[in-house]
Amino acid sequence: MSGAFNLGKLFGIQIRLHFSWFIIFILVTVSLVYPDWLRLLSWVIGITTSLLFFASVLAHELSHSLVGRANDVPIKSITLFIFGGVAQMTREATKASAELKMAAAGPACSLVIAGLFGLLWFLTRGIFAPVAAMALWLASVNALLAAFNLIPGFPLDGGRVFRSILWRSSGDYGRATRIATRVGQGVGYLFILGGVLIMFIFPQGWFNGLWLAFIGWFLENAATASYRQARWRETLGGFTAADVMTPDYAAAPSDITVSQLIQRYIIPGGRRFSMVADEGRLQGVVTLHNIMSVPQQDWDITPVKEVMTPVDKLKIAYLEQDALSIMEQMDESDINQMPVVSEGRIVGLIARDNLLRFLRIHSELGMKVPCMMCLL
Ligand SMILES: [Zn+2]
Repeated sequence: MSGAFNLGKLFGIQIRLHFSWFIIFILVTVSLVYPDWLRLLSWVIGITTSLLFFASVLAHELSHSLVGRANDVPIKSITLFIFGGVAQMTREATKASAELKMAAAGPACSLVIAGLFGLLWFLTRGIFAPVAAMALWLASVNALLAAFNLIPGFPLDGGRVFRSILWRSSGDYGRATRIATRVGQGVGYLFILGGVLIMFIFPQGWFNGLWLAFIGWFLENAATASYRQARWRETLGGFTAADVMTPDYAAAPSDITVSQLIQRYIIPGGRRFSMVADEGRLQGVVTLHNIMSVPQQDWDITPVKEVMTPVDKLKIAYLEQDALSIMEQMDESDINQMPVVSEGRIVGLIARDNLLRFLRIHSELGMKVPCMMCLL
């Protein structure tokens, strides 16, 4: 998601904040400033509530992420934005039970938080009105967050739960995904329709209608992307490294100098890296990054084998390996190229851009757990 900046890492997961989130922060804060309380107190409560709300959505996303990770579904980042939060996976769950646990964890967490704020409200009501009001608002918003995301349209949490149940009962992942994403698209269209109707029938509620329509639009887009991705996975399932690799690659010998490597391989090849091989046997890979680690005056005397990433530290694809797992490995390790090796000898190269061209669709499409908040 562009327009987001990093807040730091929590449990090794990158936390990002999208600029649109500030709109929510201001809306929530302003709507919670009660005119009959002291002005300063009102603002303190408003801002505290907004921050606790932020923490609630983050906790919801972290629950997905940590349960996902414990079930072998790595999560790269969490982004909070105007409609809620999105956890970015590097691959989909490979077991129905893993998906079920990961998807249910978010709403379960929100329900627990709702319960805790409910308790706080119960303890403070009639004693300290501002805190009681804050607690009540947070309890309802978290309960809504749980309920709303349990709507069974993929890729909402409920849609993932729905898919995992279909998947488990039929054993057919592709079919389960197609059904759940179709329902997701339908839910998206219903929200858009509902939003438009609200705007026409209750003009004073135009904002709620608009909000619902936007969520519907976002959901429809996400469901369509997930549907396409499911088709793509099915297509990709039939291909191996041999189908997607390029056999035209150059490999430099390990005993030439960095200068020679640049002159003979990097510049003519037009790539930002070169494989290194001696008599067809892969020794390593040199990237521009490796080259830059050597001062330029030493390029004439430094042999390539001293700067390359040696073969035992590389991610390597095998000729018979399926294309999907290669793509996932590249995403997970954030690498752009992988040598393809058969019996120790280089037979080709898979570059991410070639693979993407081959697939004609980006891998990250649809691999998201979007959790929408409902502020109606
Ligand atoms: Zn969720």
